[in-house]
Amino acid sequence: MLDINKFDKIIVANWKLNGSKDFIDAFFNDLNPEVINSNSCGIICPPSIYLDKCFSKNKNFFLGAQNCSQFNSGAYTGEINAIMLRECNCNFCIVGHSERRMNFNDSNNDVKVKSENLIDNSINPIICIGETLEQKKNGITKEVIFEQISSSLPETGSANSVIIAYEPIWAIGSGLTPNLEEINSIHSFIKKEIPKSRNYKILYGGSVKSKNSKNIMDLENVDGLLVGGASLDPQEFIEILKV
Ligand code: PEP
Repeated sequence: MLDINKFDKIIVANWKLNGSKDFIDAFFNDLNPEVINSNSCGIICPPSIYLDKCFSKNKNFFLGAQNCSQFNSGAYTGEINAIMLRECNCNFCIVGHSERRMNFNDSNNDVKVKSENLIDNSINPIICIGETLEQKKNGITKEVIFEQISSSLPETGSANSVIIAYEPIWAIGSGLTPNLEEINSIHSFIKKEIPKSRNYKILYGGSVKSKNSKNIMDLENVDGLLVGGASLDPQEFIEILKV
């Protein structure tokens, strides 16, 4: 399992349900491997069926999946487990993305079990947390995040193996972001005030583009970025990797 503390910054591309074989050929043709230096960690998370194809094209990037099963084998049609992801050269896996929590009912406990399976197979989990707009308006962001972290972080994880991605749900795909002070303050809360996530690496995600990536990355408590829509445009993604 990779020791994530050796990286100064971690930039994750979450392609969601997008991409094709032709898209992957064009994407990697446009990427310059020199945008990744030895202290940075660039991670591409394509749909799982394209992991092998991305591996064959790989230019200094790590591979990540977007989800894994909580089960390790058996009668679970359609599922992909952590053992299979490891066989496909995955070093990372996103778990508990808000789209999975909302559309597929992934609970905090599911996220925890999936993360434990990943760790057992030497894959670093990237655990997503974040509040809804209503929760933000009600002033309960910190309570929501505290509960998500307390209930979804695996007991077997540590600051060396597990990454947290703070993704306010209202910021995902909306073009909206919290202001810089809000991002820094929530990241500081996670790193310093929640015992279970003390000193963990925290990524910010939610409408990151090349035009706001540097300001967000420069914040004291931000260790990297989780990028959705903008990661599908190689030129945009290259600019974000340069921050
Ligand atoms: C995401 O998919 O986690 C995400 C942050 O998406 P976007 O960058 O498009 O808001």
